[in-house]
Amino acid sequence: MSAYAISSLDAPNTDCLTLHINLLMFSKILRCKIVGHKYQLTQKHHFQINEYRCNCCKKEFTDDGYGRKVPLNEYWRQTNNRFRTYLNEIYS
Ligand SMILES: [Zn+2]
Repeated sequence: MSAYAISSLDAPNTDCLTLHINLLMFSKILRCKIVGHKYQLTQKHHFQINEYRCNCCKKEFTDDGYGRKVPLNEYWRQTNNRFRTYLNEIYS
């Protein structure tokens, strides 16, 4: 009986916290969709390789070959690492 009472008390608080976090993340993502991301430069490997993080939604971005900001996924992470290794070999 007491275990049931504790679990029934804990469950609504956990659900409420999860809902609050989801609403907070949704409002931040919605804000970024409407206003745009707040880019902050996190890593500058070279003058051509920059990585950014949005202060609002914490997503990571990088510059592609055309200077556009693209999401920093595994493909771009590997490409940036290879390019940085290549440039370090050239300039060292
Ligand atoms: Zn954002």
